[in-house]
Amino acid sequence: MERHYRLAWALLESGWRRDVGVAVDEQGRIARIEAERAQPGGAADAAHAAADAERVAGFVVPGMPNAHSHAFQRGMAGNTEYRLSSRDSFWTWRQAMYALARRITPADLELLATQLFVEMLKSGYTSVAEFHYLHRQADGTAYAATNELWEAIARAADTAGIALTFLPTLYQTSDFGSQPLQPEQARFAMTTDEFLRAVETRVSAERRLAASRIRTGAAFHSLRAVPLETLREAVRGLSSIDAELPVHIHIAEQQKEVEACRASTGRRPIELLLETGLVNERWCLVHATHATPAELRGIAAVRAAVCVSISTEANLGDGFFDAARFLDSSGRICVGSDSQASVCPAEELRWMEYQARLRKRRRGVLADSQEPHVGTRLWRAAARHGAAALGQPAGRIAAGARADWLVLDPDHVSMAGAREVTALDHLIFAGGNPAIRDVMVAGRWVVKDRRHAAEERLADPFKELMGRLAREGA
Ligand SMILES: [Zn+2]
Repeated sequence: MERHYRLAWALLESGWRRDVGVAVDEQGRIARIEAERAQPGGAADAAHAAADAERVAGFVVPGMPNAHSHAFQRGMAGNTEYRLSSRDSFWTWRQAMYALARRITPADLELLATQLFVEMLKSGYTSVAEFHYLHRQADGTAYAATNELWEAIARAADTAGIALTFLPTLYQTSDFGSQPLQPEQARFAMTTDEFLRAVETRVSAERRLAASRIRTGAAFHSLRAVPLETLREAVRGLSSIDAELPVHIHIAEQQKEVEACRASTGRRPIELLLETGLVNERWCLVHATHATPAELRGIAAVRAAVCVSISTEANLGDGFFDAARFLDSSGRICVGSDSQASVCPAEELRWMEYQARLRKRRRGVLADSQEPHVGTRLWRAAARHGAAALGQPAGRIAAGARADWLVLDPDHVSMAGAREVTALDHLIFAGGNPAIRDVMVAGRWVVKDRRHAAEERLADPFKELMGRLAREGA
């Protein structure tokens, strides 16, 4: 049965519209949209005329896809912010992350991920790409039948009600030059055959469930973790399984990685990847942090997305991403919470603009003449390109898209003085996260009046788990 809504204000493809009627079908997809009520005496649209239409007061905007997440890292957020030495870096943080990855159980992972996905929904992420490279048991042996770690992620997404693009991640070597995995990377191992078979099994199961909120893609951890020949072979295999499969990769997060790539191959990582000719609009390049202007133009030219996670890039001391240059090349940008140091799309977009302002000593850097409001420009771009990166029918409020949306509360103090055109500026630049009042995924309210149905029962077990992980990690 269809459900009908009347939205006081909605950000549609054509811009902000007042008094919008929306019909949502049984699968949670938007069946029809009627912007502006019919004139008095005119033919009333079914979505408006429906007596049962639910009235939604506030500013309704597309939910944000989270294009990059490692759920298990929620278990270390806040626990690695102390100085060990003057040489602390991404690489020393990585040792703490490996230690967590070694001891986490499927039950731990399910609890961490469920809590995390609830946090994502409350902050405005309505779908998530889980870049998942924990494949094996703690001692490095494979799971016999079902992969319990993978199942933990799927169950967590289901409990929280977030849409999921699960990305089994190939991770075979510890560095360029096909260096073998280190003992602390034993849980990440997977052969190319295992990888392709697992993706194929999941994709064929999903074809039988047309309206699922869960879909499978694939990821390569990085060029240091997947030799180029293996990557070529795996991409051929993936294309024969599903030509539309989303493909993600960490590409140039650290300067040391760029230097190691050059020493081994004579090329920079983005340059090397683009030269394969494999990259297209199905690809999402995560952390294209250390990119030359030519590399940024090259990524934009093949229409691949770049996922920027400034909170993690800042937390790990990675470097600046030149968002202004990439957007000027019509680059497709999206955001992600990555290490979960911050789970907040508004913060990602705020700092995308702020780091451009700090570098250029100007304001309004990432807006353009077509969309002068920075908040609206960045939110719409990240939502649209994030949905494409996840391969999910989301990121916009339009017929055919899934009904994933947020309602910003015009009565919240952070929205005081906001009009529809400045609502996203308030959310991003005026500390407006508490203004996210309601969140819908696939036509179902998963957050209502700032509350998620699972949050209270999750709180105590989650606190207990975090206490244990902190003690074990100390
Ligand atoms: Zn990552």
